[in-house]
Amino acid sequence: MKPALTVLLATPRGFCAGVDRAIQIVERAIEKYGAPVYVRHEIVHNRHVVERLKAMGAVFVEEVGEAPADRPIIFSAHGVPKSAPAEARSRRMLYLDATCPLVSKVHVEAQRHYDAGREIVLIGHAGHPEVVGTMGQLPEGAVQLIETVEDARTFTPRDPSNVAFVTQTTLSVDDTAEIVDALRARFPQIAAPHKEDICYATTNRQEAVKAVAARSEVLLVLGSANSSNSVRLAEVGRRSGARAYLIDDADGLDLAWLDGVRTVGVTAGASAPEVLVEGVIDRIRESFDVTLDEVDTARETVSFKLPRVLA
Ligand code: SF4
Repeated sequence: MKPALTVLLATPRGFCAGVDRAIQIVERAIEKYGAPVYVRHEIVHNRHVVERLKAMGAVFVEEVGEAPADRPIIFSAHGVPKSAPAEARSRRMLYLDATCPLVSKVHVEAQRHYDAGREIVLIGHAGHPEVVGTMGQLPEGAVQLIETVEDARTFTPRDPSNVAFVTQTTLSVDDTAEIVDALRARFPQIAAPHKEDICYATTNRQEAVKAVAARSEVLLVLGSANSSNSVRLAEVGRRSGARAYLIDDADGLDLAWLDGVRTVGVTAGASAPEVLVEGVIDRIRESFDVTLDEVDTARETVSFKLPRVLA
């Protein structure tokens, strides 16, 4: 007889509206223009998504200049610095922008603060393409990146009464709140986003993970190691008391992790397809008598339109 195991499935999990739109843009561009279609950077940070699109005819490059000028190029969901469309235009390339509208919203905010003469602090992770894209909306030096509470405590603005902050969309909600508190303590007049920059999908997935991890001994997060929001889900799970593992797919699961375990939580980052969740549950079922329980903490109804040329 197989041992009993309860699987708590976090809801919402997996694809968000921005990822769904970005993937559709690549698929439809291949349909419309034929292969190859070039994509600047991984369209979303998920190995399975990228491999599938490669098989359909997408070619991933890191810079616009690596793509031939006579083929379409798509900008990834994370957004790009202004230099990317500028380069595409100068080479007379057809380009499509799959930047998530919620990242574009942050770009607009940063521009608004800049136009108002404010010094801008971006809370985010150095080197992440979204951070590169947001900083690249404005001239060099206009945006200061801070990553930690310590950075917030030591940052020295030109004029402490004229500072604004924006954030990466996929941060830890709790860590960011601490950084924002530290900034507000030093700069009470700091201009804040009208509405959170951390997106609805990141917030909802972290809330669902807290509910699941608090009741689980082990948490499995489906997602790739370069996916910011997936890495955050594993961190949030650990803080809520579960042993959390970030895995790309069912092959990444080591069944020894589940030895003697009664309850395991399962979730997926915003760029991880649901089929990977199904795969991991199937793999668990081979060795355990599974009771599946969905832990539902929010309903999502967000969807984004495709660019008109592909709609
Ligand atoms: Fe957009 Fe948020 Fe999804 Fe990123 S995680 S693509 S910001 S909805």
